Amino acid sequence: MPKITEDVYYIPGQDEFIPDSHAYVLGKPSSQNLSLIDAGLTGKGSYKIQSIEKAGIELSSIKRVIMTHTHLDHIGCFAEILKQLPWVELWAHRSEADLLEQGDERSVYGMNMFRGLCQGQFGLKSGAFKFQVNRKLQGGETLDLGNMTWEVIHIPGHSMGSIGLYHRLMKILIPGDVVYADYAIGRFDHYGADAAGLKESLIRLAELEVDILLPGHNQIVKGLPKGYISKTAKQWEPHLR
Ligand SMILES: [Zn+2]
Ligand SMILES: [Zn+2]
Repeated sequence: MPKITEDVYYIPGQDEFIPDSHAYVLGKPSSQNLSLIDAGLTGKGSYKIQSIEKAGIELSSIKRVIMTHTHLDHIGCFAEILKQLPWVELWAHRSEADLLEQGDERSVYGMNMFRGLCQGQFGLKSGAFKFQVNRKLQGGETLDLGNMTWEVIHIPGHSMGSIGLYHRLMKILIPGDVVYADYAIGRFDHYGADAAGLKESLIRLAELEVDILLPGHNQIVKGLPKGYISKTAKQWEPHLR
């Protein structure tokens, strides 16, 4: 599991025919108060946990999983992780947290066709994604995560409860599936997506100084060119209305 900085680890997604999201472990290891950002695709729980162990991190120091959003490729293996680390809390934006608590899986599967396909592929039953959410985020919070300060930014559009995590001093942005490397952005045709909202979210992120971009998929970028997100937003603008 590669280190991005002393306090940020990267667990690359292990894509199958459906992508597996990257996961990140945040926090100073000495704090014993670490956060896993996103879980990943169904079936990838053991891979994520083994990656953490291989890095020499004590599993008991993983205190919570914070979801950038609750699509299947990000929350699919949360139940597997919870089984092995039953103390971990689940944190998510309140709009998707409410759905999880009600057992409403529209935001997990994104579209009906996908629900049938995935339930068949993974043997998932209806109600597999009903979870209690320990902390409902709304955006605007400043979180102390293992002696690091991360700001929560609500960036809807790819999904209604997408959040970004931003470390202002180190200029690190974890944008979930909102913006990727290579001027790509997240899709905006799933349940709860909103093209105009995605445009607003990109404009919001463009205001941040970002040096390290840690997205949910594809390459991570160190030394992000200045104006990268703003340029990405401009390129996509004709499609986001
Ligand atoms: Zn997504
Ligand atoms: Zn994703």
